[in-house]
Amino acid sequence: MTAFFFSPHKNIIRHTLATRDDEVAPRHEILSAGTEVTLLDNGIIRFEPNTASDTSLVISCAVHGNETAPIEIVSAIIDDLLAEDQKCGQRVLFILGNPWAMEAGTRFVDVNMNRLFCGDWQHQDLTLPEVKRAAKLEAYVANFFAEEPVTATQRLHYDCHTAIRDSARERFAVYPFVAGRTLPETQKAFLDSADVHTVLLQQQAANTFSSFTSLQQNAESFTLELGKVRPFGENDLTRFEGIDRTLRRLIAGDALPDSPINPVDGFTVHHTIEKTSEHWEFFVEDDVANFTEFAPGTEIWRDGDDAYIVGDEPEYIVFPNRDIPVGQRAGLMLRKQSG
Ligand SMILES: [Zn+2]
Repeated sequence: MTAFFFSPHKNIIRHTLATRDDEVAPRHEILSAGTEVTLLDNGIIRFEPNTASDTSLVISCAVHGNETAPIEIVSAIIDDLLAEDQKCGQRVLFILGNPWAMEAGTRFVDVNMNRLFCGDWQHQDLTLPEVKRAAKLEAYVANFFAEEPVTATQRLHYDCHTAIRDSARERFAVYPFVAGRTLPETQKAFLDSADVHTVLLQQQAANTFSSFTSLQQNAESFTLELGKVRPFGENDLTRFEGIDRTLRRLIAGDALPDSPINPVDGFTVHHTIEKTSEHWEFFVEDDVANFTEFAPGTEIWRDGDDAYIVGDEPEYIVFPNRDIPVGQRAGLMLRKQSG
């Protein structure tokens, strides 16, 4: 019967695209192992084992609609859970974030959804589908965590993305800022297992989806940048084996190592590049990869007598973008944490 869960559509991707403008009636089934499956809404599905579980796991993708590789991975995991080829040992909420941008094959339609969380949607045009969707996603996630059994001891959220820009470090994670929090060894072990050996440690609160779960839902969470943006069907999914394998282990309820086997390098922001005036000059090439290293003494930008020159240790650029209005952020210069 589960082959027809998304009937008449083939899988959650097709179902999500086809029903993007509809009211989706909740659908509920119990698998032969006792796992309860509930399609809560368009692109939002929950699996709950009938055994005691200690983890509430949120796995999201398609918050940017054209970042297709994680969507294909999530859809395949859901198919395997429904077919009971994948064991369900923990509660899992899967989210395909932005159905309209998925359909359009774009990052977003009206507004970048990954800037709408932590209640930021309240300050936006509430008639826009993406703004309403961000509000709904917050509510579904909050309910999912609120309904967890007393046996639950950890909340996890992995928000899976791919990037437009090349990266000198193919995969990286962004760890949201929460005052007084440090990245635990168990989460470094998760990253290592997923072949993510670079983590940008944010130093101020943001309004991304993973910031919402970290700041307001007490979860360990990351925004995961897992490779390059490509259209549906054109992804080399072998490049994503690490995350696929690791998510499946977590869902099955298998233990991950307590600490990483390979080093996971932490990076912190040393300088925020801002376009200070119309005379501002930016000396970083347009197509430079994220995490490109700049040697001490390199001039990064100049605006008259003001300039930024790399200090006494190497720095690494992320998210460079010169085509922005005066006063906005043009990129970040990072330093690698020692030890
Ligand atoms: Zn993204």
